[in-house]
Amino acid sequence: MPAQTITALLKGMCNKEFSSVEITRGYLASIAANNPGLNAFITVTGETALAQAGAADQRRANGENTPLLGVPLAHKDIFCTRGVRTSCGSRMLGNFVPPYDATVISKLNAAGSISLGKTNMDEFAMGSSTETSFYGPTLNPWARDRVPGGSSGGSAVAVAAGLAPAATGTDTGGSIRQPAALCGLTGIKPTYGRVSRLGMVAFASSLDQAGPMARTAEDCALLLSAMAGFDPADSTSIDREVEDYRSQLNRGLSGLKVGVPTEYFNAALDDGIAGVVLEGLRQLEQMGVTLVDISLPHTDLCVSAYYVIAPAEASTNLSRYDGVRYGYRCAEPSDLHDLYSRTREEGFGAEVKRRILVGTYALSAGYYEAYYRKAQQIRRLLQQDFVRAFEQVDIIAGPTTPHLAWRFGEKSSDPIAMYLEDSYTLGVNLAGLPAISAPAGFSEQLPVGMQLIGDYFSEGRLLNVAHQFQQQTDWHQRTPVRN
Ligand code: GLN
Repeated sequence: MPAQTITALLKGMCNKEFSSVEITRGYLASIAANNPGLNAFITVTGETALAQAGAADQRRANGENTPLLGVPLAHKDIFCTRGVRTSCGSRMLGNFVPPYDATVISKLNAAGSISLGKTNMDEFAMGSSTETSFYGPTLNPWARDRVPGGSSGGSAVAVAAGLAPAATGTDTGGSIRQPAALCGLTGIKPTYGRVSRLGMVAFASSLDQAGPMARTAEDCALLLSAMAGFDPADSTSIDREVEDYRSQLNRGLSGLKVGVPTEYFNAALDDGIAGVVLEGLRQLEQMGVTLVDISLPHTDLCVSAYYVIAPAEASTNLSRYDGVRYGYRCAEPSDLHDLYSRTREEGFGAEVKRRILVGTYALSAGYYEAYYRKAQQIRRLLQQDFVRAFEQVDIIAGPTTPHLAWRFGEKSSDPIAMYLEDSYTLGVNLAGLPAISAPAGFSEQLPVGMQLIGDYFSEGRLLNVAHQFQQQTDWHQRTPVRN
């Protein structure tokens, strides 16, 4: 299947060059051929996809036209899908078939999209490499001995390898942007509250946010317009009108002030990535923006603050998996305590257990002040760094990740090394801001992402800048060769 954008697929269907059934068959064939080697999907829903595609073709023939009519998508296995197993990459939810759809899924369905299946991910979205999935790692199609990033690695690989034209992801500390960067895609994490969290398996509730992963900023704009919006059933969703992000893509960039944080070009940054991103910034400059050196002085505290707050929230969110209500239950428990402890011992993997232990410790009496409260204070300082920066500049630009895609196993035995990979993405989640990662070039034949961070609700501007960049460059059009 040639790499197609959603925009191109919609155009082709409109012009009757092909039908949704034909497209869907093509992607299902690509999944059948390539998924065994890549492990991007945990569950493939071929039959329902074809039925949905047939219905979409019928609706189009009847003159209907919704924004994503007949477009196949892949969904991260963190979104509840009615009647379709939702494992969240865990053994704990290996048998969980939700009775309802997440709001993101029902909105995308209402826009006419089709679901190809559910994609692999780090267990409960905890990780930066998709190596912690109970269902095995996902392989990076650019170099199969390397990780695709995480936690939305399955979604990234499904799109990068042409198994789906676009996918959903979630981003608690970088899980949309980082795998997008390591796989050569465009992915946007919206402002906290822009997209409903209802039916998204909770990891860290004050940080989790869903967003699209696609080949282009234009596709992301189309998808985000369909995903976003107030949800009365999610108390953290914001009652604010949804913009037509696509209509903003063609705004000019001249006069735009782009801040370049010195802290994002620190000693940890790979030289190859630095070179590519600096070249990308020069490209933006040629397109009319003004680059301004800025400082986000508390950046080096992001990792410490995040890795207290996220585990603290996770430890309470994951307390619901007790073997009683739903999900995995150990065999023949001898008493209630045995049921709880063996269910959780057998149902959770090592990284999830580590987070639960860290989070429970940080919240316990006597340690709460020293760790959790301190981390929340740092969170406020980080947020104020951004507030001050946006008094000076319109958007902030820098690398998405400090390193290129690394080899399997290279960091999985050293949690701190893995956590440091999130150094440039975590601040955005802690502050609740929107940010996009877009392909900016290659180093050692591996994709490099440039991150653009905006003020609250500036998704339209971020997509606009990424789109304009993609009009002048072709990095986003490159596809991995089979290796
Ligand atoms: N890598 C980060 C973590 O492990 C972020 C994951 C995410 O965004 N879901 O927590």
